[in-house]
Amino acid sequence: MTQRIVVVGGGPAGLMAAGRAAEGGAQVLLIEKTARLGNKLRLTGHGRGNVTHVGDAEEIVAHLGPHGSFLRPALRRFGPDELVAFFRDQGVPTLAESDGRVLPTSRNAHTLVTALRAYCLAHGVTFRYGAQVRGILADQGGVRGVAAGDKEIAATAVVLATGGLSYPATGSTGDGYEMARRLGHTIVQPRAGLVALVAADAWIPEVMGLSLRDVALHARQAGRELATRRGDMLFTREGISGPAALNLSLDLAEAFERGRVHLYIDLLPDTPAETLEADLEREMREHGNASFRTLLRGRAPRSLAAVYERLSGVPGERQLAQVSAAERRRTVGMLKSLEVQLVATRPIAEAMVTLGGVACDEIAPESMASRIVAGLYLAGEVMDVAGETGGYNLQAAFTSGWVAGTHAARRV
Ligand SMILES: Cc1cc2nc3c(=O)[nH]c(=O)nc-3n(C[C@H](O)[C@H](O)[C@H](O)COP(=O)(O)OP(=O)(O)OC[C@H]3O[C@@H](n4cnc5c(N)ncnc54)[C@H](O)[C@@H]3O)c2cc1C
Repeated sequence: MTQRIVVVGGGPAGLMAAGRAAEGGAQVLLIEKTARLGNKLRLTGHGRGNVTHVGDAEEIVAHLGPHGSFLRPALRRFGPDELVAFFRDQGVPTLAESDGRVLPTSRNAHTLVTALRAYCLAHGVTFRYGAQVRGILADQGGVRGVAAGDKEIAATAVVLATGGLSYPATGSTGDGYEMARRLGHTIVQPRAGLVALVAADAWIPEVMGLSLRDVALHARQAGRELATRRGDMLFTREGISGPAALNLSLDLAEAFERGRVHLYIDLLPDTPAETLEADLEREMREHGNASFRTLLRGRAPRSLAAVYERLSGVPGERQLAQVSAAERRRTVGMLKSLEVQLVATRPIAEAMVTLGGVACDEIAPESMASRIVAGLYLAGEVMDVAGETGGYNLQAAFTSGWVAGTHAARRV
C-alpha cells in the first residue's frame, strides 16, 4: 500500500499540514478543488494579509471562543511566536499593528500564499488543482484513501482541511462536513460568525457609513444578558458591522433562532452615567442659552445626534435652560444605552468564519487525529473552533495544520 498522505484543501491549514508532513519525511499530495491555493487567505487583512495576533498561547485561546481550550496543547507547541518565526524563515517578515494584528511587512496577502507554496515544494509536496474530493475511503483498519473526481487515490493518512461554509467563491462550501459526517463524526450546526448584523429600526439608514470608535455593545434577550463587546463599530445600510459588531456576532448566532436581540450601544463607556449626568447638568446651567442640539452634537457625530434628538422627543432648538431634569436623565440614558433591535445576521456566505463544524471532543488535541477513524486528521475551520477578528482564526488554522501534519507524517 502507498505510504502517502493526502491533504484535502489548499487553504492555510492544508498548506501548513502538507509542508510540515513532507518536512517530516512523508510523501504528500495536496488536492485543491479550485484552480488556486489560499483563496481565502488572500482576502485576509483587507488583502494586506494577516498571520496572527500579538500574544501568547493563552491569549490566543482566550479569543478563540468556547472551544478555544481545545487548541491549547497545539498552541503551546506552535503558537504565535513559532508562526512568526516560521514565516520569517520562509522570507516573509512580519510586523504588528497598533491593534495587535500581525501582518507581513509586504502588506500583501499573496506573499503568504507564495511562501507556503514554496515551503511545500521545497519538501516535495505535489499539488493537484481543480479536483474535488468527494469522500474519504475508510475501513476497519482506518483511512485507505480518498475519492476525487472519478478516481480513488490511496493514502495511509488524510488531513481534512476543507474550511467552513462562508465565502463559497473561495472554494469553502462545507464539503468537509459531509465527508466527516459519513465517517461517523458529529457536525455541530454550522452558523455564520464574524458577520454583519441586521437591525429592524427605521433610523438605521440615516446613519449608514458612520463609524463609532471604542463603544460598548451590550446584547440582551428576554431580560437576559447575552454578551458585551467593546471596540469600533460601523452602521451599515441595514444594521451594524465593524470589529465590535463582528465579534458580537459570534455570541448571537444561536440567539436569533429564539427571536430578536436587544442591543444597547454605550457611546461613552468610560464615563459612568452619574458623571455624565453631572456634566450635562453643569453644561445646562452654565450655557442655558445654548440649544439642546448643540449639546448633543458635542457628544455624538452629527447624523447620530439627529437620531438622539428625535428619539429624545426634545426639540433641537430648545434652550438648555428649558430642558427638564427628566429630559436630561433620558438624554443620559440614550447616550449610555441607545437601543437597537437586532433581528438576524447577514447570510453565512458573507461571514468571515463559520461557527460549528466537526465536534472538537471527537478530535485528539495533541495530534488533531480523529478519535473515530484511524489515519484521519483534521485542521482549520472545518473543526468547531472559531475566534474573534484580528488573526486568531488564521493562527488556529496554521497551528492545527502544523500539528496535524506532524502527526500524520509520524503515522506513515
Ligand atoms: C473576507 C475574509 C477576511 C478574513 N480575514 C481574516 C483575518 O484578517 N484574520 C484571520 O485570522 N482570519 C481571517 N479570515 C478567516 C480565515 O481566512 C479563515 O479562518 C481561514 O482561511 C481558514 O483556513 P482553512 O485552511 O481552514 O480553510 P480555507 O481557507 O477555507 O481553505 C479551505 C480550502 O479547501 C478547499 N476545498 C474545500 N472543499 C474541497 C474538496 N472537496 N476538495 C478539495 N479541496 C476542497 C477550498 O477550495 C479551500 O481552498 C477571513 C475570512 C474572510 C472570508
